[in-house]
Amino acid sequence: MGLTKRWLEKIEARGYGDVPGKYVCYHCLGDYGLRQFIKENATERKCNYCNKYSRMNISLELETLIDYIMQCIKTEWMSPEDSGTPYETREGGWLVEPTHLYDIFWYEHPLDVSEKLFEDIVNPINNLHWSKSFSTPFPELEEYELWDRFCHLIKHEVRYFAKSIKKSNKFRSMRYLYADPRDILNHISKTVINLNMIKTIPAGTKIYRVRLDSEKRYSTAKELGTAPQIKAIYANRMSPAGVSLFYGSEKISTAIRETRGTKISSAIASIGQFETTQNMNIIDLTSLPPVPSIYDEQIRDQRTIIKFMKKFCEDFSKPITKDEKAHLEYVPTQVITEYFRYLLSGKLKVKGIKYSSAADDNGISYVLFVNNDECIESGESVKKSKLRLSHVTYKRLRAVVN
Ligand SMILES: [Zn+2]
Repeated sequence: MGLTKRWLEKIEARGYGDVPGKYVCYHCLGDYGLRQFIKENATERKCNYCNKYSRMNISLELETLIDYIMQCIKTEWMSPEDSGTPYETREGGWLVEPTHLYDIFWYEHPLDVSEKLFEDIVNPINNLHWSKSFSTPFPELEEYELWDRFCHLIKHEVRYFAKSIKKSNKFRSMRYLYADPRDILNHISKTVINLNMIKTIPAGTKIYRVRLDSEKRYSTAKELGTAPQIKAIYANRMSPAGVSLFYGSEKISTAIRETRGTKISSAIASIGQFETTQNMNIIDLTSLPPVPSIYDEQIRDQRTIIKFMKKFCEDFSKPITKDEKAHLEYVPTQVITEYFRYLLSGKLKVKGIKYSSAADDNGISYVLFVNNDECIESGESVKKSKLRLSHVTYKRLRAVVN
């Protein structure tokens, strides 16, 4: 085999051609995964892009960096020909439009580099068009779309008898599109364990709960704690009408915002400070790590699962206007809450959920599986109690004019 042929084969296999013989330092890239890679593999002390010179090794050969970038991109992208995407010759194009390399490096997985460095990275790369695997007839329905699918099924198709869903032959290949809601629930609980989202809140943790009234002041644990079941007449984010749960917040201001809604005239807020009487395991939806960079080889394989959980957590914190659609919008989170409450066992047995408040930026709220009997007064000692009322204050709220 001639030298030229061997060289061409090499270029074909690695996906890029001649690279300028330059060095690049980690300061010149914004993506943390790439910075990390350069730091760990640096062989030089100078950078040809920002002209920094250091006493330590801060740079590596541009070719090594491009090689690494290509390896990373290929974990999720491939040439349209290899992706299984049908080519519609009559329509004159791919069924799913491939993504341009520039868009991959600008938007999908931003390199965050100077224009010069961007050019030097992109120019040697052979393939300008990339696709994701066309593994289902609807490739946009990736795993992280499962939550949307779950919401649709629960809201519009099957709510009480999920088991009765039959997968017809016609749809068998659409694995995610016709996923059984129970599989999705299992998937969520596995994810909660894998991402270490079960946390313990220690006994003595303070949680505030607010009750509003035009004139009346409330003062007892039974009045300020979880509503008795018979009084739970409204659907809530995590509980349907008739089911009563303890909703509270880490701060008084968050508890007031969560309770008052937007169209309220002046009112007295009775603010109960409760303390947990025992350690409680809860699912902490606020502890979700950010989606890792595709260039972070250590934890890149968690990208899909975190994207999925992110969507799920956003729904727990999404404001829903109190109109006639509210009872429908709450259904998926109500189903999940009931699942967490009754169907998880062993290590997964939890007493509540911690989530970001929909009504207060940076506010943290809790829903606890605690009933009215389990909320007790400060002097009381009841064996099965879960929350003790330790302090009560009052605040007059002025009318909110929209
Ligand atoms: Zn530099």
